[in-house]
Amino acid sequence: MTISHSAIIGNSIRDACRHLNNQEVVAIPTETVYGLAGNALEDAAVIKIFEVKNRPSFDPLIVHCFDFKAFENYAFDISKAAENLYNAVGPGPVTYILNKKPIISDLVSSGLPTVGLRVPNHPLTLKLLRALPYPLAAPSANPFGYVSPTTAWHVNAQLGKKIPYILNGGACTIGIESTIVDFTQDVPVVLRLGGLAIEFLQSVLGESIVINTTSTSQPAAPGMLHSHYAPSKPLFLENKAAHFTTLEFETLGYLGFDKRHPQIPQSQQLLLSPNGDLSEAAKNLFAHLRAFENLPISGILAANIPERGLGRGINDRLRRAAFKST
Ligand code: AMP
Ligand code: MG
Repeated sequence: MTISHSAIIGNSIRDACRHLNNQEVVAIPTETVYGLAGNALEDAAVIKIFEVKNRPSFDPLIVHCFDFKAFENYAFDISKAAENLYNAVGPGPVTYILNKKPIISDLVSSGLPTVGLRVPNHPLTLKLLRALPYPLAAPSANPFGYVSPTTAWHVNAQLGKKIPYILNGGACTIGIESTIVDFTQDVPVVLRLGGLAIEFLQSVLGESIVINTTSTSQPAAPGMLHSHYAPSKPLFLENKAAHFTTLEFETLGYLGFDKRHPQIPQSQQLLLSPNGDLSEAAKNLFAHLRAFENLPISGILAANIPERGLGRGINDRLRRAAFKST
């Protein structure tokens, strides 16, 4: 359904609950990115999420709960490893793939026998989840394939006309999506790099965890799609891009890590973290990609980010953003 007026942006749990109880979708803040939330146990609400995002039905939704104990209502065979990780992280940027109970419909899981569950670490959204008698299915609150939103204003710019309410919880503190870990295999398998560093996962779960984030166009777990998180201008990776001429540099934007580009005009450059801090870089990534949309440039050249900590998740998103153009 399309609502003709713009969304109301506010911080009322009561208003958010009212819309959700009417099977409407509402944007919610989390520490990773803003989510487009609906009652995970009502197909009517779940269908609206797919419609508003223009999301293909093969891309499963993550279900948000207020604590780990609530996972038992929606999944069975919850492994000790999953529990250990939750005890170490608490509410945070990690999604647990578990065997789903029938109460979660195939619409949510895109027909998979598993479901992705997460406890987001945001005070307002935790309060909202506690106030509701059902969990919230919530993918990122952006049109499918585009850059994820990290402020209420990002959501409003793209989906404001299609949803009644945006719960404003400020700018996201982590800024990239959750790390997804599949706990239904013999060993934990990382399906998506994200806001929880692999090094941390290994310190809790051991070195034997498997990382399987290979790209595909027929994904069991999209976010694994080749092309995703993409701005409207072509994005080139600095370590992959063909050489540009001096004239071409004049027309490019530069997404740097901690150093400016010597040939691109200063006014067309944005640094993710002048101090070389990977957490700060993750927090700025999507907002910077959006900021380039308003600059008079023909494309974006993106620096290579150190491949450690949250840098791995950032590089993963830049690679997928670049897929169409390189
Ligand atoms: P988003 O919330 O937009 O970042 O998208 C949610 C992502 O979670 C999907 O694109 C999948 O990659 C992943 N996901 C959700 N449920 C499952 C599942 N049951 N198995 C594997 N991946 C999942
Ligand atoms: Mg997304």
